[in-house]
Amino acid sequence: MTLNGKTAVITGSNSGIGLGVAIELAKAGADIVLNSFTDRPEDHDIATDIATQYGVNARYIAADMSKGAECRALIEQAGACDILVNNAGIQYVAAIDEFPSDKWDAVIAINMSSAFHTTAAALPIMRAAGWGRVINIASAHGLTASPFKSAYVAAKHGVVGLTKVTALETAEENITANAICPGYVLTPLVEAQIPNTMEKYGMDRDTVIREVLLERQPSKAFATVEQLGGTCVFLASDSAAQMTGTTLSIDGGWTAL
Ligand code: NAD
Repeated sequence: MTLNGKTAVITGSNSGIGLGVAIELAKAGADIVLNSFTDRPEDHDIATDIATQYGVNARYIAADMSKGAECRALIEQAGACDILVNNAGIQYVAAIDEFPSDKWDAVIAINMSSAFHTTAAALPIMRAAGWGRVINIASAHGLTASPFKSAYVAAKHGVVGLTKVTALETAEENITANAICPGYVLTPLVEAQIPNTMEKYGMDRDTVIREVLLERQPSKAFATVEQLGGTCVFLASDSAAQMTGTTLSIDGGWTAL
């Protein structure tokens, strides 16, 4: 399976799932546009490494996914956008009555509204090319809820809804839109939650991972960035041409409970 000649734009891809997805798409032959809000030499170095290692074109474009105009500018600067992976995301954990308004706004903007803006900018490019794939990295929290994650759960449910609308509006145009719903994946976003949880419950790291983080993940194993990247490659393939408007759970059985 080859994605030669296709350009993939992956938001929030200088670490974690986004970077893992970019690498798997590059292995399949796609040219890569990486993104985050920082503009450091090491961000651009990641693109150089991908280009060297996998023999594709790769570049890094800084753009803040909390700002609609920058989301749209990312797609415009990319020029081509055959595969759009909306992945940028942040987490904030607090009870609703203690949830700071600015944190609510940031989570909704980065995790949900950015996907609206990038999709709006990418669809005309995909229509002109006569082919496109929109892949939204939602979450098990796009299908189910946990306490203290109101903004995240609202944003991820919103992304699933946006995915369905995108699929319906493009259904006859050789463009598909799907959402991947991962359970826990050990990335910096999840790693950052471990120390506080260890302190809160007086538990060691392994106990926090098994009994708190993976409590609802029946497999008791993290999903990996390679598995998520492989799923994106599949969604970009001809085998998935009639899959659209759906969610793919990669959650060790969480949403089967
Ligand atoms: P991460 O913190 O490693 O990566 C998040 C990425 O988003 C980083 O590249 C970061 O730089 C970028 N980002 C953050 N704010 C941004 C902004 N304003 N503009 C542009 N980029 C920004 O986290 P991750 O675990 O790899 O998460 C990636 C996505 O996967 C998120 O949408 C997250 O909600 C989702 N997800 C993660 C898990 C998990 O267990 N790790 C589970 C389900 C869903």
